[in-house]
Formats: sequence, C-alpha cells, structure tokens
Amino acid sequence: MRHANAAVFVPHIGCPHRCSFCDQRAITGCQSAPGPQEVRAVALRAAETLPPGVPAEFAFFGGSFTAIDRETMCSLLGAVQPFLRSGVFTGIRCSTRPDCVDAEILSLLKGYGVKAVELGAQSMDDTVLLRNGRGHTAADVERASPLIREAGLSLGLQMMAGLPGDTAEGARETARRLAALRPDTVRIYPTVVLPGTAIARWYAQGSYRPMELGEAVELCANLLGFFEGRGVRVIRLGLHSSPELERSRIAGPYHPAFRELCQSRLFLRRIESALGGREGEYRLLVSPRDLSAVLGQKRANVEALRERGFRLAVVPRGEIPRGCFAVCLPGEETGRLFSPQEAPAL
Ligand code: SF4
Repeated sequence: MRHANAAVFVPHIGCPHRCSFCDQRAITGCQSAPGPQEVRAVALRAAETLPPGVPAEFAFFGGSFTAIDRETMCSLLGAVQPFLRSGVFTGIRCSTRPDCVDAEILSLLKGYGVKAVELGAQSMDDTVLLRNGRGHTAADVERASPLIREAGLSLGLQMMAGLPGDTAEGARETARRLAALRPDTVRIYPTVVLPGTAIARWYAQGSYRPMELGEAVELCANLLGFFEGRGVRVIRLGLHSSPELERSRIAGPYHPAFRELCQSRLFLRRIESALGGREGEYRLLVSPRDLSAVLGQKRANVEALRERGFRLAVVPRGEIPRGCFAVCLPGEETGRLFSPQEAPAL
C-alpha cells in the first residue's frame, strides 16, 4: 500500500549536542525552528494536495523532538490535532535521540496521536559515538528501543555508515545489533561532509576520509539486503536530496538516486548467488517496478553478468512480487522464484 507524509523539520532545537556530522540546516534547507502556525500551514497544504484514500502521517523530523522544551513540543503536536480528528492524517511520527526517551514522554506522545518514534542510533560502537560527539551510548539505544515497542509505538532506528572511527565491519555490527532490537523501520545514511561541521574541519585537515561513492554503495547494498532479509523495511537509504544539500556538500558519497544504486548492486549479488556459478543462458522474470534496478545503470548489471559467463534476458512480469525474481532455464516458463529473504549473508 502507498503511504504519504507531510513533514516539518525541526533543525537543532532541543539538541543538547552538536554531532560531528550534523548540520540540520544544510540537510533540510530549513533555517529556523517552526512554530505551531507553520505546522498548521503544512498540514493544511497536505489536506488540499494529498491523494484521497492514501494513508498519510504527519512527521516531525530532524533535531531531537522529545528534548524540545515541553511547552513548545506540545504546541507543535497540538497544531496537528484537528487534522488527526478530521482524518487527514492517520498519526504522527517523530525522530529523537535515544537518551531523550522514557516511559512518561512516550505516554504523552501517544496521547497526542504519535504512532511511530525513530531513534538516531547512528552507531552501536561506543568509541564511534564518543568520537562523533553523540553524547549517548549504544546502551541508550538498547534501553529506549524496547520502551517504544512496549508503549505500542512503531520503532524506527537510524544508522550511519562511514563515520570517523567506523569501518565497514563496524557498520555491519551496528546493523546486526539494531536488527536484534526488532525495529519496524530503518534508515541508513552514508556520511556526507557538510560545511560548518566538525567532520568538515577534520576533512580539511586530512584526518578524515569519507567513503567513496562505490564503497558506500557496496556497503549499503549489503546492509539493505541484511535488513530486508529479516523483514525490516528500509524506509530511507541516503540523504534526501535538496537544492541546498547539492549546493553546500563538501565531500562524501552523495547521489540523488543512492537507493536505486544500492538496490541495483543488491540485485546483482542476489542474481549471481542464485545462478550459483552455472554459466549459461537464462531468462530472468522481474517485477516491472524493479526492471531498471535489475538492469543497472546503462545495463551495468547485465554486462557484468555477461562478463562472468551469464547471458540474461530480463523480462518484466506483473505477477512477480517487488524485490523478487524468477530464474528460468531455456524452455522453462515460470522458473524458480527467489525472494529478498534469500539475500546473501551480511
Ligand atoms: S544529529 Fe541529531 S542530536 Fe546530533 S546535532 Fe544533529 S539533530 Fe542534534
């Protein structure tokens, strides 16, 4: 089912820290903290433009929503209430820090119609968290996550890859520990260097090297396959593109279609593993919605497989579920179906 969102970004207000990588203003293009009036205006616009019959949520992203002073936080939540009552939105989601969550605040959020809370975990390695000025530990994520689930709220976890002090194996270990907390959704952000941040300084001094785009795609494709294989929805992969971000970013693996690059790489790996080294000619049946990711940019996947001895005819078929593909030998009509649960191991 399709979903829609109306979102307000809450840059930095409520943040007791300034993390090494973060410039919410550059990421969101949002220069000042919103008030209830702006929330109402965004909700009204959404009410006029959202397609009817598509479930929509109102989202407060950026910053540390539950660390905002109580009065401001409640006024922002209060501004959405008429739109919940009239059925424009089915609920509210917000993102916050793992050390700013307790049972009392979760019950308050629930009372305002919040249905999902996302935690910026970023890494499950305390040395990485410390080096990047996060001001919380992995134990905070492990304490806050069950509280959110026990409150009956949807749990979202956000992680980063390529932070100073982290490694590809560190990011994979973060993914394993986050998956163990049974989140409903995950967001994965490869680290991008933004002006005015500590990592921009470290980058200029030569003490920090961000991941190359190819390296980030390789790693994040791996993480995507891992979460999808466990039935966890990855609702974002890579920073949301905005003119402000495109203009201001200094370095790092940013691409406006980063998710598609990762999906494409993941399909390449999964197809190769499904073919199991048996060179030859195959027909690959795929969902029409996955066709471009399966083919790869400029048919890069088909070419890469051809070089390894696999000659593929890729055929879109409406009956193949998204994320799956069927491998047919010559003469076979339906072949064997492979699902994302058969993703290669992390
Ligand atoms: S990453 Fe989150 S906690 Fe850190 S400064 Fe940015 S908004 Fe605040």
